[in-house]
Amino acid sequence: MLLSKELFIENVPDIQGKKVLLRVDYNVPTDEQGQTITDDSRIRMSIQTISYLLSKDCRIILMSHKGRPKGKRTEKETLRIIKPALENILTENQIKYNSVKFVDDCIGPKVKSEIDLLQPKDILILENLRFYKEEEDNDDNFAKKLAELGDLYVSDAFGAAHRAHASVEAIAKYIPHYYGFLIRNEVTNLNKILLNPVEPVVAIIGGAKVSSKIDVLNQLIKKADYILIGGAMAYTFLRANGLEVGKSLIEPEYVQTAYSILSEAAKARVEFVLPVDHIMAFDTSLSAKRFKSKGPDIDPDKMGVDIGPKTITLFKSYIKKAKTIFWNGPLGVFEVPQFAKGTFKIASIIAKTKSFKVVGGGDSVAAIAATKLESKFDHVSSGGGASLEYIEGKKLPGLAIFE
Ligand code: AMP
Repeated sequence: MLLSKELFIENVPDIQGKKVLLRVDYNVPTDEQGQTITDDSRIRMSIQTISYLLSKDCRIILMSHKGRPKGKRTEKETLRIIKPALENILTENQIKYNSVKFVDDCIGPKVKSEIDLLQPKDILILENLRFYKEEEDNDDNFAKKLAELGDLYVSDAFGAAHRAHASVEAIAKYIPHYYGFLIRNEVTNLNKILLNPVEPVVAIIGGAKVSSKIDVLNQLIKKADYILIGGAMAYTFLRANGLEVGKSLIEPEYVQTAYSILSEAAKARVEFVLPVDHIMAFDTSLSAKRFKSKGPDIDPDKMGVDIGPKTITLFKSYIKKAKTIFWNGPLGVFEVPQFAKGTFKIASIIAKTKSFKVVGGGDSVAAIAATKLESKFDHVSSGGGASLEYIEGKKLPGLAIFE
């Protein structure tokens, strides 16, 4: 998608001192009770836009969703916990602000009176938008009530851009709307994969299910020269090729689809590279023992849990040829240390290349964070579902408003 340059935040006329309604993605992971943030990267990713607005003496009203409360107030999904985290990050980055406040609603008179009190460089965090079911319903009335809170709307919530929700899509009907630095960065980098990528293009796709990656695979067949497949989804493809997959996690009802994808790739002369050996186990518990397969077949009494050493060497030979790399999905059960080697090793092989490299998707992002390789990648997408849908070539409702 190509976003209109005039709608980029730096091109807003007279932004000085305005009340800016900023949609962010603060759907941060927390502990079971929802009281401690376990990873604050999503807040950090919003800082460039917040800092820009503060430099223009704006009054910032932050709105986000968190979790899936389905229209009910829950303590586990409150956004109250954002306030101290945001204050720390602003201070750490030496960004000047006046105050950060939180209000326990996102529409209504209480919110309006808090907004009336805002001074330049004040930040007000609204309570979780999804405490109202109207948010996910893309309800016009709810969107109108949100729009009334600010002079203009800025979106930096790339992670929610694939959702047609009130604060993402419907709101644009009622207020001048612009996009922030995070969205610009995402679209610029993902476009380098989608529109005229520098060849050869290598796509590495892993994860649990073929069913969730069909559209992205079909799109990548049009873009990539080589598609390397790992993770549990590889076993559905191996089954389609008639191999033994033992007790591996597969989707029997997608074997036919996998077969069609393989045929399409062959027709398009895209090399579709499947694992040639595996790490196997009886289960995926923390104490499970690892076994190496001899070849592409998996022992009938075991499951495949990671790519094997020969596959790592094979994948490396393709990755080294690449000028553009797109990676989504772990190549094994990387949450269990003895089955993480394939994923971590491939991450470090990609990191060492001089190609243009992009990682999209929650679990592969977590894998490169665990190996501290983020800085070696040209782009680490902030949105799992959103970046996949973008690469699939879909129109994302939260971006379409800026076309
Ligand atoms: P996805 O959300 O589709 O990218 O899938 C990510 C999940 O796939 C992670 O939780 C991995 O543990 C899981 N996964 C990857 N490889 C395997 C495998 N060989 N067997 C079972 N689960 C796997």
